[in-house]
Amino acid sequence: MHENLTGDFAQLRFRGGPGDEHMFVQERMEWERHLATGRWTCVGWPTEYGGRALPISQEVIFHEEYARAGGPGRAGLIGEGLLGPTLLHFATEEQKQRFLPGIVGGTEYWCQGYSEPNAGSDLANIKTTARLVDGQWVINGQKVWTSLAQWSDWCFVIARAEEGSQRHAGLVYLLVPMTAEGIEVRPIRQITGTAEFNEVFFDDVRTDAANIVGGVGDGWKVAMGTLAFERGVLTLGQQMAFQRELTEIIDTATANGRLDDPNLRDAITKLWIRVRIMRANAVRTLSLAESQLGREAMITKLFWASLHRDMGEVAMDAMGADAMIINDSYDSHEPLESLHRLFMFTRSDTIYGGSNQVQRNVIGERALGLPREPR
Ligand SMILES: Cc1cc2nc3c(=O)[nH]c(=O)nc-3n(C[C@H](O)[C@H](O)[C@H](O)COP(=O)(O)OP(=O)(O)OC[C@H]3O[C@@H](n4cnc5c(N)ncnc54)[C@H](O)[C@@H]3O)c2cc1C
Repeated sequence: MHENLTGDFAQLRFRGGPGDEHMFVQERMEWERHLATGRWTCVGWPTEYGGRALPISQEVIFHEEYARAGGPGRAGLIGEGLLGPTLLHFATEEQKQRFLPGIVGGTEYWCQGYSEPNAGSDLANIKTTARLVDGQWVINGQKVWTSLAQWSDWCFVIARAEEGSQRHAGLVYLLVPMTAEGIEVRPIRQITGTAEFNEVFFDDVRTDAANIVGGVGDGWKVAMGTLAFERGVLTLGQQMAFQRELTEIIDTATANGRLDDPNLRDAITKLWIRVRIMRANAVRTLSLAESQLGREAMITKLFWASLHRDMGEVAMDAMGADAMIINDSYDSHEPLESLHRLFMFTRSDTIYGGSNQVQRNVIGERALGLPREPR
């Protein structure tokens, strides 16, 4: 890894990823293709689809070593981590042959068109429609918070195909080219000053009839499959990145003479312990049967998201009075110190991929078997 992050790629070390996605987008796509030439993308996928069929234990080791070496945030994360596993599980052979090579090779990038203005946690409230007209799906509606849409070639969209259908019924999971006529992407500026997610408007947008994963009415089942991947194994290696951030916090506190503060020392120690628990949990998960993984993954998302948000707050304590000052090039391409970025972006960790409150409901109902929340 170290030998590869040289030359033009050297600037990518530790860049990209949450809160920093706008940086070096094209260069990180180039890096993705470089990884692909060494067969270092999609390492857990079956070999016939371009992977290495690594067992999950080795996949985690790979992701940890990647983070330790400063490998940049993966531009193809949504394709590799979310859509790819969904296609492997639910798609036809023809669809796999069409779409998986672009993900493995780093030549096609994906975004996730789930959330709508009135369908976030309550995803079954989807209002975007899809109708079959002359051998094509015609899509109308609006998605929101669509990460990386402005750099994506394709979007996987949940839409309502059966008129008058309610909730989980009548939904479809469609693959839609972002170059299609009628798509408008409007970036949303975040507290970080950057715009990583977007509103996406669909006005009579067309995609081929064949670009449906599962059948009409299967949209919910397929969408939930994708969510399980989003909350699950994808994040098993990220404790290494968290450890690096914690080291930066400790270095900053030391440089600012803040480590004399017993409260800060206490907070840092607790974070250190939680990062180790996170790793121990990841390692423990490796010994579980595949069937138990989903259950464990429910806890993983809640644990890492809360830990990371707390880490952002401790980062501000470590900066001391400097935390109150944002450099005056806030509107520039490189607006924030990395710890400011950590603080601001980690506010979102407990929201996306299932908010903390919703995760608690999921754990209660599906993992612990508690009575369902009154709806
Ligand atoms: C950084 C970021 C990136 C994102 N990227 C994408 C993306 O690429 N594609 C995409 O489709 N979406 C994306 N999202 C959207 C994300 O999935 C939603 O924000 C999330 O599902 C929450 O929905 P909402 O924002 O509509 O909040 P709401 O669902 O309106 O929730 C508001 C509050 O109510 C709470 N709440 C809601 N229902 C319950 C309940 N039943 N019990 C208890 N509390 C409840 C929530 O926890 C939350 O605190 C992204 C979000 C963020 C922050």
